[in-house]
Amino acid sequence: ADKIQMKVPLVEMDGDEMTRIIWKLIKEILLEPYIDLKTEYYDLGIKNRDETEDQVTVDAAYAIKKYGVGVKCATITPNAQRVEEYNLKKMWKSPNGTIRAILDGTVFRTPIIVESIKPLVKTWKKPITIARHAYGDIYKDVEYRVKNKGKAELVFVSKSGEVSKQTIHEFEGPGVILGMHNTDESIKSFARACFNYALDTKQDLWFATKDTISKIYDHRFKDIFQEIYENEYKEKFEEAGIEYFYTLIDDAVARIIRSEGGMIWACKNYDGDVMSDMVATAFGSLAMMTSVLVSPDGKYEFEAAHGTVTRHYYKYLKGEETSTNSIATIFAWTGALKKRGELDGIEDLVNFADKLEKASLQTIEKGIMTKDLAMLSDLPNKTVVNTESFLIEIKKTLEEIL
Ligand code: NAD
Repeated sequence: ADKIQMKVPLVEMDGDEMTRIIWKLIKEILLEPYIDLKTEYYDLGIKNRDETEDQVTVDAAYAIKKYGVGVKCATITPNAQRVEEYNLKKMWKSPNGTIRAILDGTVFRTPIIVESIKPLVKTWKKPITIARHAYGDIYKDVEYRVKNKGKAELVFVSKSGEVSKQTIHEFEGPGVILGMHNTDESIKSFARACFNYALDTKQDLWFATKDTISKIYDHRFKDIFQEIYENEYKEKFEEAGIEYFYTLIDDAVARIIRSEGGMIWACKNYDGDVMSDMVATAFGSLAMMTSVLVSPDGKYEFEAAHGTVTRHYYKYLKGEETSTNSIATIFAWTGALKKRGELDGIEDLVNFADKLEKASLQTIEKGIMTKDLAMLSDLPNKTVVNTESFLIEIKKTLEEIL
């Protein structure tokens, strides 16, 4: 049969280590035989980021702004050990952070569910998507260690010179102080990204803070969400038959645990940090978690939530067999292809991506899976396959579906 044709290129961002290996295999085995794959390629592998002084990451982000949809492989965020390992010129910043800042985006993380891997929370039947606000609060705080008796004050000097001063605490002895902030602009972007994504995926949106205790700070988050909802989204939500729901963070936690899932849970920065790991663990595995960055003006970047699986890569380099789970990376591709298909009106592309997702999950349900999944699955007969065989098995299932 003829290959599916694309109109607008996907922004393809290659990455590092084991995920770079599976990136190439996914394209060769599962995509290129069926699609006349049109991409604009950016090599975000650590060597090329180093060679281009990280310009390639910035260029890739602007390409997503231009074309609207990108797909990204996991990348190394260098630390001191990586600087030595790869002989880097600098400890380059996290590519995800750079891209997120340029797109002003919000990250949505969603687990991929298979029948034979039961979430640890028995009531959960549908995925729970966590949206994490990625600016401010304790991640941009100023901290101070009080060593002696003294007074801590919160002081704000406006541009015109007015001064507001409040006592934080009169210290009688040692202690600690923290100053943090957020901006209306950033909270608004976050809110719009969440409302848009809820409409896009037809799921309820939950938001929670501790506004009963934090009567100005957290209350501002609550008010901004409410205002934007009333003014810009209420009608669209009603038309789509979905709901926006605000509650206290402790109430949200209790309700989420007792829910069936199937909602988007918008979290402040720290809550999102903690809750996304809890949700990932309870659903089973980081290797089964997808991630999409959505900008307030509707640009999308799809990726797997996991890292470059370094441990497997070192085995691979030694010529040893690996059993790396490529599901989340496959779903990054299918998510991006589906979005491209929707935007460009290419039904075949959307259908193909759907079928590839089905084939991936059916392969696992047949009992063919990677080692990490075999440890979680309750199927009686399981065949553990290596990295490449897993993709070949998915291709066989895909051929049956097609
Ligand atoms: P990791 O996600 O690569 O691995 C964490 C653990 O989960 C490991 O035990 C690993 O074996 C297992 N695991 C993860 N994905 C798996 C898969 N697909 N199949 C089988 N097992 C899987 O995280 P890490 O080890 O903390 O980090 C490795 C590198 O990845 C670091 O250099 C880090 O900077 C980078 N990283 C990148 C991203 C990203 O690009 N989005 C995210 C996280 C970490």
